Amino acid sequence: MDMMAASTTSRSSVQVVMAMVNPLPQIDQNLCTGCHACVDACPAQALAQKDGKAFLQHPLLCTYCTACEDICPEGAIALPFLIVMAPRMAH
Ligand code: SF4
Ligand code: SF4
Repeated sequence: MDMMAASTTSRSSVQVVMAMVNPLPQIDQNLCTGCHACVDACPAQALAQKDGKAFLQHPLLCTYCTACEDICPEGAIALPFLIVMAPRMAH
């Protein structure tokens, strides 16, 4: 969804925020030692390894579960925070 679509949609604020950020895991290739732990831990099989470095091979499969971030011994994986805004309550 592009920004224009996000601003004109009737969807909730949460979905608009999701469209404006990239919550996918970010893997620092300089820190990755290629231990394969994140690839093995990913329940969605979204990660793979090439030339001794992990990378997000299938972004659409990622469920943002944070398993890869939690297991990486090098702190090479970060999931950007999602800012979740609750819909406004009716008075
Ligand atoms: S767990 Fe960390 S160090 Fe190991 S392959 Fe994945 S990103 Fe690289
Ligand atoms: S956040 Fe979860 S689903 Fe996404 S790549 Fe990491 S382990 Fe796989």
